Amino acid sequence: MAIVGTLKTFKGGRYFPKLPGTPRLRLDRAPLPRRAVVPLRQGFGDEPEPWVAVGDAVEAGQPLARSDEKLCTPVPAPVSGEVVALEEGVHPLDGRPTLIAVIEADGRPGWRPLERPEGSYTKWGREALGRVLYEAGVTALPKGGFPTAFNSSVADDPGAISYLLINAVEAEPYVRGDLVLLYEEFDAFVGGIKILKEALGNVEVHIGIGHDQARLFEELVARLEYHDWAYVHPLLPKYPQGADEVLIKTLLNRELPVGQPPQAIGVVVCDVQTAVAAYEAVLDGKPLIERVIAFGGSAVAHPRCVRVRVGTPVGDLLEAFKHEPPARVILNGPLRGVAPGDVEVPVTREVRALTLLKEPPAPVSTALHGPERPCIRCGDCLTVCPQNLSPIALFEALEAGRWREAERTLALEACIDCGLCSYVCPAKLPLAETLRQGQRWLREERLQEVT
Ligand code: SF4
Ligand code: SF4
Repeated sequence: MAIVGTLKTFKGGRYFPKLPGTPRLRLDRAPLPRRAVVPLRQGFGDEPEPWVAVGDAVEAGQPLARSDEKLCTPVPAPVSGEVVALEEGVHPLDGRPTLIAVIEADGRPGWRPLERPEGSYTKWGREALGRVLYEAGVTALPKGGFPTAFNSSVADDPGAISYLLINAVEAEPYVRGDLVLLYEEFDAFVGGIKILKEALGNVEVHIGIGHDQARLFEELVARLEYHDWAYVHPLLPKYPQGADEVLIKTLLNRELPVGQPPQAIGVVVCDVQTAVAAYEAVLDGKPLIERVIAFGGSAVAHPRCVRVRVGTPVGDLLEAFKHEPPARVILNGPLRGVAPGDVEVPVTREVRALTLLKEPPAPVSTALHGPERPCIRCGDCLTVCPQNLSPIALFEALEAGRWREAERTLALEACIDCGLCSYVCPAKLPLAETLRQGQRWLREERLQEVT
């Protein structure tokens, strides 16, 4: 029987009300892109080798890149067409170099189905099940990868995992693709959880869902009632509840060591889309060629959630759905997202939202913009920090070049880049941005020490 916990939350964070520009709870489909732009490196691990050459005809779903011996998963072609370029570029989210494949689409909507064993997946065995998830590219979605018998995760051994956490709470303004999927594809969500549990073996599954979604919560409890491995937890929908560090602490009361992926402590964290993608891969043979993203923000007259092919350039979506010229385009939500500065960048496997904000951004932020002023020592940045850090002390240390103090005394690396400190700061200091730069400097310095 599913064990239902009491209402849980965490220290710090912030609750955001539903803002104008928040997508409605209905799922639309974006048009197929004319060309797909696909970075071959995924959100973690190594970059796979290209399996296609310029001039090749490809079918949606066939691997564009794979390296079974490296820590990565195959990258399926998101559309059918012709590969017209394979070129060096940068990943739109982290700015690091990656090879990028460009496919001129031919407009065919189907995809090449994955090879799967006959019969129910419960009879396939864990290795065959893991292979289907791996071939689909689903294993690339969680941070650190989803462990299978293949090189898809930083966890060497799937048996080393004891907990599967499912994050079904979205709390960042405008970002609600997962919530829409819960409403529209609940069966696939529950089915996907069972598949992921089957692939991991003997694990406890803890699902955190917003307590404001009472109907979904009750339905989930009813569906998992007879599974003694399932725990359903109602959570306050406070941002950043879904961050790995925060979710692990809230659901398991365990700390994720700084700089470590959840797999290091025997935990895998997946979201709603990962569960649905697992279901589609195993039941329908569908590779990971689509994402559900929220298309919202203060500059969007008709905000919506859309199924979109991976690799679709942001410009195509703006053309299809834009109603007012936005001042700023952000990949992902307004607090954790990045402003790419170029609408030719694509939606990748890690993108959850496309946010368009008016300038000045209203009403989501009073703090992300405007002239900086001296700190007034209000302490708001300390109050909201979910990691119990002192953002202002870190900011001042980094601004003064006291890098070692920031690293060793003030725990710079524990910052999870949630952006809340910048958001609440009445002095409009770029706290989170400065901490992000500091962390980047630290990583580069360590890399230089190793090489
Ligand atoms: S960005 Fe970092 S320092 Fe700022 S509130 Fe979030 S975790 Fe704390
Ligand atoms: S929120 Fe801004 S003004 Fe307030 S203490 Fe932090 S840095 Fe200073």
